Amino acid sequence: MLTVVPTPIGNLADISLRALEVLREADVIAAEDTRHSGLLLHHHGLSKPFVSLHEHNEAMRTAELLERLRAGARVALITDAGTPGISDPGGRLVRACAEAGLPYTVLPGPCAAITALVGSGLDASAFYFGGFLPVKSGQRANVLAAALAREETSVFYESPHRLDKSLAVLAETAPTRLVCVARELTKKFEEYRRGFAPEVAAHFASHPVRGEICLIVEGAEAARRREKAAR
Ligand code: SAM
Repeated sequence: MLTVVPTPIGNLADISLRALEVLREADVIAAEDTRHSGLLLHHHGLSKPFVSLHEHNEAMRTAELLERLRAGARVALITDAGTPGISDPGGRLVRACAEAGLPYTVLPGPCAAITALVGSGLDASAFYFGGFLPVKSGQRANVLAAALAREETSVFYESPHRLDKSLAVLAETAPTRLVCVARELTKKFEEYRRGFAPEVAAHFASHPVRGEICLIVEGAEAARRREKAAR
C-alpha cells in the first residue's frame, strides 16, 4: 500500500504521530532528496531504506514502485518539505495507483500554502492556489492580473529573488488591494507582512528577504466588501 506522508515545512516537530508510525513501518521510503529526508528520520530516531523520487526520475521510479506495491510492499512517499504532489513530485505515483486500482492513502499534514492562507487573515472561505509564480516577467504580470480579477483569494509560491518585482506589479496595478507575504513559516524568522500592496512593496524594497515565501493576494469579492464597509 502507498501512503503519502506530509513532512515539516521548517519545524521538525511538525510531524504527526501517524506519519511517524507509517515511516517506521514502511518497507521503503520514496523521497525527493534522500540525504535531506535522512536527517528528518534521524531526528525522529528512524532509519529506513530509501529510493529517490524526484522530478527527473519520477516516470521511471513510478513504474518500479508500482511493481513493489503490486507485490504487497508498504511504500511511504515523502518530499523535502510539506505535502507531496503540491508543487512537488508525487502526483504521478498517486495517479498510477488510482489507475491501476492499487490501494493508497494520503495523510493530512503540513502544507505551506494552507498555513500561509490561514495566517494571512485574508478570506479563506474560497481560494485559488497557483503554485510557483512564473519566472518570466511578462507571464508573471499576466498571472498576477488574473489573480486580481479573480473573486477569491489567490495563493502563490514565490522566490525571494523575485518577490520585489511581483510586489511592484501589485502595487502599481492594485494599490487598494490587500496582500500578505508569509515567510519562513514555522521557523525562527517566521513573518506575516500584511497590508495594502504599495505598503508591503515598500517594506520589502528596503528589507530584502531570504528564505521561503508565499504570496497571498486578496480577491475581488473581499476587496469590494471591505471597501463597501468602509464607506
Ligand atoms: N510541497 C510543499 C508544500 O506542501 O508546501 C511545497 C514545495 S515547493 C517545492 C517549495 C515552496 O513552498 C517554497 O519555495 C515556498 O514558496 C513554499 N514554502 C515551503 N516552505 C515554506 C515555509 N516554511 N514558509 C513559507 N513558504 C514555504
